[in-house]
Amino acid sequence: MNFQFSEEIESLKEIVRKFVKEEVEPVANQIEEENAIPPHLVSMSKEMGLFGLSIPEEYDGLGLSMVDKCAILEELAKTHNGYTTLISCHIGIGSVGIVEFGNEEQKKKYLPKMATGEWIGAFALTEPDAGSNAANLKTTAVRREDKYIINGSKHYITNAHDAHVFTVMAVTDPTKGARGITSFIVEKGTPGFEIGAPEKKLGLRGSNSAELYFENVEIPAENVLGTEGEGYINALKILANGRASMAARCLGSSERLLEHSMEHALERKQFDQPIFNFQAIQHMIADMALQIESLRSFTYRVAWMVDQGERVVKEAAMVKLYGSEVYNKVADSALQVHGGLGYMKDFPIERFFRDARITRIYEGTSEIQRNIIASELNREYAPRG
Ligand SMILES: Cc1cc2nc3c(=O)[nH]c(=O)nc-3n(C[C@H](O)[C@H](O)[C@H](O)COP(=O)(O)OP(=O)(O)OC[C@H]3O[C@@H](n4cnc5c(N)ncnc54)[C@H](O)[C@@H]3O)c2cc1C
Repeated sequence: MNFQFSEEIESLKEIVRKFVKEEVEPVANQIEEENAIPPHLVSMSKEMGLFGLSIPEEYDGLGLSMVDKCAILEELAKTHNGYTTLISCHIGIGSVGIVEFGNEEQKKKYLPKMATGEWIGAFALTEPDAGSNAANLKTTAVRREDKYIINGSKHYITNAHDAHVFTVMAVTDPTKGARGITSFIVEKGTPGFEIGAPEKKLGLRGSNSAELYFENVEIPAENVLGTEGEGYINALKILANGRASMAARCLGSSERLLEHSMEHALERKQFDQPIFNFQAIQHMIADMALQIESLRSFTYRVAWMVDQGERVVKEAAMVKLYGSEVYNKVADSALQVHGGLGYMKDFPIERFFRDARITRIYEGTSEIQRNIIASELNREYAPRG
């Protein structure tokens, strides 16, 4: 394993770092206030190729490996997490299904436009009765000649209002449980397909989440993604492979919080000295640095395993769980180091503190990651009989 990035990736990281500092940071408060990403930021992100990071080069993307994608996401996550979510959802769960399971026609039709960001992607698995128990879907897709008719609803769907292309899981054979679920590509504007009002959330301002409604939505049979009956397995694979990139985002945000904390601790004086002189502060900061360092090694190791085509079910669950725990602990310590200033909206710490919380819930809660880890351990250790 060698985590030395190529010159190309180092230079892209530098470009993203500069973009984040000069373009995203200055409008972070505006995103918070308006709950919207300024259109010029989206346009600039498109021009930089950020929407095509993980789309193969033959479909006009940058075709980055998981390690390289994590390297860029780490930089992007150093700023406003709502902005980062627009891109990370698109390059992750929003488009990976088509990259991994799409046929040639589907790839040619969707990926070039997704690579430029002209068409943004979303992933629609969760329903009111199917959260952690994601196989318990009620949305149905009934075959009628060369079409499927979709009925049902989804909720909490990220990028719902921005997306043109939705990867939607629906039940095609209710007698087969998880094996009776199929994934479909559904385009915005298809008659009967409606998007609800934006959800009001604790954090991730600027990233929209909404319900999706399907009422007799006719989808051509050629929009089946992968094989009929494998939609649930596809969804699990999409989520599992994305877990390293979630960890990379937690890493980038945690690194930014450490930078803020060091700057503040060295500058802020109490009792006639910088608060960094107090051992209580030093220990909090030392723990932050330790957790970040171990998260960095773990993230790139799992990303590297994904690139080698290794089975990473256990490691991906571990790194997502660990990344979200590190980010939440680091955000809490950073707020403590900043004292009252950390609690104020004028300063970014409280925003990271709120945004950290979602990483323990979406793309599989911490409890579900622990269940996956335990089940994989059972698989490894249980006596074969
Ligand atoms: C901001 C946001 C964005 C999202 N984006 C998307 C998206 O783009 N696409 C999409 O499909 N979904 C999305 N989701 C949905 C997200 O993945 C689910 O919210 C998550 O999987 C949890 O499901 P739930 O909310 O129904 O909670 P529940 O499943 O009801 O869980 C409630 C609690 O019970 C625990 N629990 C449940 N089952 C078990 C068990 N077997 N063992 C131990 N504990 C258990 C959970 O861990 C949790 O603590 C998003 C959610 C949010 C909040």
